[in-house]
Amino acid sequence: MQGREYTAQGRIALRNPGPVIAEFCEHMLEHNADVTEGPSGPVLRLGGISATFSREGEVTLVDVAAPDLEGLYLARMSVASHILEFSDDDLAAITWTGDGGQIVRPPNFQILEVVECRTLTPHMRRLTLSGENVARFAGLDALHLNILVQRPEAREPQWPQVGASGVIVWDSPDLRPLLRKYTVRSVDLGAGTIDIDFVLHTDTGPGSCFAEKAAVGDRVGVMGPGGGGLAVADWYLFAGDETALPAIARMLEHLPPTVSGRVFLEVEDEAEVQALLAPAAVSVEWLFRRGRPPGSTTLLIDVMKTVSFPENAESVYVWAGCEFETFRAIRAFARQVKCLTNDQHLVVSYWRRGGTEEA
Ligand SMILES: Cc1cc2nc3c(=O)[nH]c(=O)nc-3n(C[C@H](O)[C@H](O)[C@H](O)COP(=O)(O)OP(=O)(O)OC[C@H]3O[C@@H](n4cnc5c(N)ncnc54)[C@H](O)[C@@H]3O)c2cc1C
Repeated sequence: MQGREYTAQGRIALRNPGPVIAEFCEHMLEHNADVTEGPSGPVLRLGGISATFSREGEVTLVDVAAPDLEGLYLARMSVASHILEFSDDDLAAITWTGDGGQIVRPPNFQILEVVECRTLTPHMRRLTLSGENVARFAGLDALHLNILVQRPEAREPQWPQVGASGVIVWDSPDLRPLLRKYTVRSVDLGAGTIDIDFVLHTDTGPGSCFAEKAAVGDRVGVMGPGGGGLAVADWYLFAGDETALPAIARMLEHLPPTVSGRVFLEVEDEAEVQALLAPAAVSVEWLFRRGRPPGSTTLLIDVMKTVSFPENAESVYVWAGCEFETFRAIRAFARQVKCLTNDQHLVVSYWRRGGTEEA
């Protein structure tokens, strides 16, 4: 049975809307949205969500529709945040009517409690977090979340609210938490908990410091899930450093027993090795930096170049997560040397040496 559809209309005041909306459509095309020209203006569709632009005199209208309230929130936020971003000095203002007026907090936000902290290896700490709605992180298409790392100067934790324009607002914008991406390593539906494995890197960043200091009873804000999913293939090649180890470990556990492949994991040394569950025909090989700084080696790309891909190229899938420079080298290898299509590979930059994640 089809559920009800949730709809809202945004009124956008823009002096010169044409270029701004065109840039938004262009941007959404990169995110695999379907963009067509409707009778009144552009129509965007992504998943079950749609946004239709039209004009009413001087005002630009956008009608959004989604199968649920969370989808409606995401549609309103995506339209509003991008229009505000792309409008530069054209002072855009957006107000919404329709469904979603009751959304006060982002529906993908929740507060979890630290219930266990465990040292897995010298540089990896596992936090077990408990909450009411962890089922939303089950399944490989719900692999990541954002941790809200509170700033040290904030006396009280800052939690996100949804403003009238549809974007996130903070009581004290200067004290808003920093967002850091982490992988949900595992979900225990019975216990109502998730595990997250944090790399404790020496180039101390807010995410790493948070994990190091976290203690049982701490409250942690998270937003998600996002990203993830793993394409079906007969043969896999996984590559990652320790930041992608939780994601690779979780994906390996979900692979059917019949698949084969190779896994390469770069870590500091033998003390960082973890026992992983993988199908019998998937070999796991560890590469050691031994004192060289994380993100400074070519260990992963070098070994990937030596791998013989199976004859049946249709059944191949390459997945990699690592530091930015290594990401660039592996992506070029997958696309230009192995000529893999978008359906046959996903190579992601998980962090940047010397750089910091945006707030
Ligand atoms: C989709 C996704 C999933 C991720 N999952 C995980 C996960 O499960 N566990 C995990 O630990 N990380 C994970 N990461 C990586 C993590 O988000 C980054 O390492 C992030 O930069 C950590 O934030 P920070 O506040 O500690 O450091 P930042 O403030 O971002 O950076 C501060 C300094 O630390 C350096 N730095 C950052 N990360 C590292 C590192 N790993 N080693 C050495 N130096 C570093 C930076 O170069 C910079 O100089 C994931 C990233 C993505 C995109």
